[in-house]
Amino acid sequence: MCGICGKLDTNSLCGKCRIQLEEHKQIQTNQPKESEGEFQEFMSLFSYEGIIRDLLIDYKFKEKPYLARTIGNFIIDQKTIQEKIQTYDLLIPVPISKKRKKERGYNQSLLLAKEIKTNSKQQINNQCLVKVQNIIEQSKLTKEERKLNIQGVYRLKNEQTIENKKVLLIDDIYTTGSTIKECCQTLAKGKPSKIGVLVVAKDELTRGNERMIEV
Ligand SMILES: [Zn+2]
Repeated sequence: MCGICGKLDTNSLCGKCRIQLEEHKQIQTNQPKESEGEFQEFMSLFSYEGIIRDLLIDYKFKEKPYLARTIGNFIIDQKTIQEKIQTYDLLIPVPISKKRKKERGYNQSLLLAKEIKTNSKQQINNQCLVKVQNIIEQSKLTKEERKLNIQGVYRLKNEQTIENKKVLLIDDIYTTGSTIKECCQTLAKGKPSKIGVLVVAKDELTRGNERMIEV
């Protein structure tokens, strides 16, 4: 069944919805600026707007964990992205707090990581990076508030598991970048040989403090 429109289909994404996603695709792969954080590669598939925004809100907030397969399959169908994912040893989902996990029932980034794992040598590690504090949901805050809100909330556990490994941090949405920056700074303490970041969508409209994200 198609995860988006519900049409019966052997795939988790029907032909019609696939075309829609293709039309909205805005693949970005680049080397981030130093100021963006301690990571060396950044990948994003969409701009966070229109149907993509609706899709990700459904996935994250409307109890539709099955959309992980729909989105994940689309991601690994993108050759340039898939080839890059393959070069990593570990996929690390951005963690959510225990409280949030209990409310939502799933970590959207972990489910995505499971869907985009490209080969058996690659591992998912959702133990090494942990969120140790419950904080105000980032989406309710401005850019400046987010930066302060997120500081020091991640911890690295069993850091030897990432030493000299190529690690790819996975998240659904890149908004102001403060979550990613904080996670990468934490991961860097474990001395991985490379840190990459993969997000489904990037919010291009966020500029400074003026925009509140309404979800
Ligand atoms: Zn469909």
